[in-house]
Amino acid sequence: MNKDSYQGPQGPPPLSGPQSAATPRASDNAPKMLYNCADCGTENEIKPKEPLRCKECGHRIMYKQRTKRMVQFEAR
Ligand SMILES: [Zn+2]
Repeated sequence: MNKDSYQGPQGPPPLSGPQSAATPRASDNAPKMLYNCADCGTENEIKPKEPLRCKECGHRIMYKQRTKRMVQFEAR
């Protein structure tokens, strides 16, 4: 009986718990810019990473809209 030759499963233990790989990138919170399509005038919200393209007609020329600053006062 040479059972002592058998050794239990060795090796690195399985990864336990989620690692910090699901950290959202800061670029996801980038503010959207408002554009007006030069062709149909539709207002489009374009993220900085996205290409300029009208969601309605597909036109690629847009006018940048001057976003109004929203000033919020905290009611106290
Ligand atoms: Zn358009």
